[in-house]
Amino acid sequence: MILRARWVLPISSEPIADGEVVVEGEQIAEVRPRRDASGGDVLDFGDAILMPALVNGHCHLEYTALRGLNDRTPFFEWIRALVALKARCPSEFWLPSAMLGAAELIASGVGFVADNTDSGVSVEALARTGLHGRVYQEVFGIEPEPDDAGILRSLTAKLEAHRQTLQRYEASERVALGVAPHAIYTVRDSLMRALRQYASEQSLPLSIHAAESSEEVALARAGSGSFAEMFTERKIPYLHPRTPPIEYLHNAGVLAADVQLVHATRAEPRELELMARAGVSVAHCPRSNARLLTGIAPVYAMQRLGIPITLGTDSAVSAGSLDLWEELRFAALAQRAASYAARPTWQEWVRMLTLDGAKVFGVDARLGSLEAGKSATLIALRTTRPAYVSMPDPYAALTLITRSEDVALTMVGGRILYRDGQIIGMDTGNLRRTITDMLSALPE
Ligand SMILES: [Zn+2]
Repeated sequence: MILRARWVLPISSEPIADGEVVVEGEQIAEVRPRRDASGGDVLDFGDAILMPALVNGHCHLEYTALRGLNDRTPFFEWIRALVALKARCPSEFWLPSAMLGAAELIASGVGFVADNTDSGVSVEALARTGLHGRVYQEVFGIEPEPDDAGILRSLTAKLEAHRQTLQRYEASERVALGVAPHAIYTVRDSLMRALRQYASEQSLPLSIHAAESSEEVALARAGSGSFAEMFTERKIPYLHPRTPPIEYLHNAGVLAADVQLVHATRAEPRELELMARAGVSVAHCPRSNARLLTGIAPVYAMQRLGIPITLGTDSAVSAGSLDLWEELRFAALAQRAASYAARPTWQEWVRMLTLDGAKVFGVDARLGSLEAGKSATLIALRTTRPAYVSMPDPYAALTLITRSEDVALTMVGGRILYRDGQIIGMDTGNLRRTITDMLSALPE
């Protein structure tokens, strides 16, 4: 099959005007200027851009259908309301909700997602929809009677079930697993250390929400604020480390190159140094941070220290949508406003969503750029809207102009998952009805 467009943007090399991508089976066979003689199966998108599918660095697919049901702020109020909302949902709710999220990602041109899941359903959602990804199984443990060994046994059982699910759908190559100790206010110190050891033994990467809110920093530094008051009320013994959250994770021996810190909105200069030294990556989710009043992450400072950054939508119940183009635009502009610097550049942001993002998750040998031998995981974006006229820099156009609705095609591993408004092989109408029925039956 040959895919053609006015522009081909390989990311790893210069844009090609009037280019084409030759796909053979699951792979890209060639990326080249258009050859008129070539016959066979040709998809010509005309006034469009062909580029790699996007990497979403952090998401919670299972919460997609809770969008709009929690508008509380600040962060502490929001997360408490989320816990209460989750308790009202039956276990059958999570898979359709995650499938809806996967559909939204596919329609916006995402080919790889790093997802943190409590229920575990993201594994099946990714396996079924054909997306590439890494699923971090979330772990919580802050209640007064510690049972770290029991929690680790339960984690082992969940991971084993995930591996079986992936085998059943022949998705073991596409979807990797990891562990997510949720945060320092939901995972006690002994469990955090035990999970670090467990992950090292099992060669599983870690994802931790860290330094997201001022409430979290107040708890860690001074044992004060909303979290501390809640712990006192619930008689939960919490020995605050007297350091900010990321410094605590460093002191506990948790930070390493296999760790993703989610948000790091409130990371202090000393913590940024520790992060750079340990080689951790950061998942930056600026719309979620803005919505939940947690601030703007110091991305420019992180970039200068060489900390690898991915861009993530976070969940639809915090960010509002899983539209990574919206995230990109908001990220780029908010960062300029906050840092008074034109960095990252438009091109650096687009690389973060493609090749550099793929590198962070160790999948850059297959994903993130259009090159012969790589997975045919790519998108076509229509550039017919008037806003695209007179945008000679494609990276600026992608950052400032592109919307999900411009995505004409999403192909993952040579399979067309989305084309002209249709998710292929998924009954989204039925999915909507199932979710609407479940939501209307939620107990008060
Ligand atoms: Zn999150």
